[in-house]
Amino acid sequence: MLKDKIAVVTGGTRGIGRSIVETYLKNGAKVVLFGSRKETVDTALSEIRAKDAGWQVEGLFPKLTNAKEVEKAINSIKEKFGRIDILVNNAGISQSTPLYDYTAEEFDKAIDLNVKALFYTILPTAKIMKEQGGGCIINTSSMVSIYGQPAGVGYPTSKFAVNGMTKSLARELGPDNIRVNAVAPGVTKTDMVAALPEETVAAISSQIPLGRVGEPQDVANAFLYLASDLGSYVTGAVISVDGCARA
Ligand code: NAD
Repeated sequence: MLKDKIAVVTGGTRGIGRSIVETYLKNGAKVVLFGSRKETVDTALSEIRAKDAGWQVEGLFPKLTNAKEVEKAINSIKEKFGRIDILVNNAGISQSTPLYDYTAEEFDKAIDLNVKALFYTILPTAKIMKEQGGGCIINTSSMVSIYGQPAGVGYPTSKFAVNGMTKSLARELGPDNIRVNAVAPGVTKTDMVAALPEETVAAISSQIPLGRVGEPQDVANAFLYLASDLGSYVTGAVISVDGCARA
């Protein structure tokens, strides 16, 4: 579905991002994953390559909250591969601190990585996509971007902003044949959820109409759809992949 497409996936070393990376590779894309540190990037690359030696995957670790470093990394991908067809903004941090214990620094952290870093990756990439005649940008939102969250206000605030950026850029970049969408996962079984006691996961699952938490692959499937030609007329959408959970 993505034969010979060049994709960039931030936060691609583990969790949902890792599942997106492997799903894109299985579908014929060449992928450059971004991680926060050289060690985690190297480990992820060797684990992924061990699954299929034919997969073309590389890794970089620019500081996502530094616009200049991000621009340099994006431009290096264009130089090496000639184009960028798909940009997935997946790296993100969540928060659950109650308001009265919150600090301005913690709030800034959520905004810096979950919002500003998206702008930093999108700006140089959109220029490349415009020049090559089009492309596809997919941001990772969350179900809390629709329902809010009763603690850790920086996190839902950042994800509401992700939706706003997605819908606005879809309108601005549509004429350049650049589609911009978001996926809003519900509770998904990444390391953090997998580490919870079985009873806790069962209690969460019982509140979800589909009766289970999501797997990273459930979420990656939506990223595949949006990046492929099946999503050719979809832009400005925030697709929920949450089993109808309500935060
Ligand atoms: P995770 O913690 O398993 O992975 C996060 C990824 O982001 C990692 O690859 C990590 O390297 C990267 N990252 C974190 N901080 C970074 C930094 N400062 N600089 C660069 N990279 C950094 O998380 P996940 O659960 O897979 O979440 C991925 C995305 O999905 C996030 O945007 C998150 O908000 C969103 N999401 C997750 C869930 C869930 O239940 N897991 C639900 C809704 C939305």
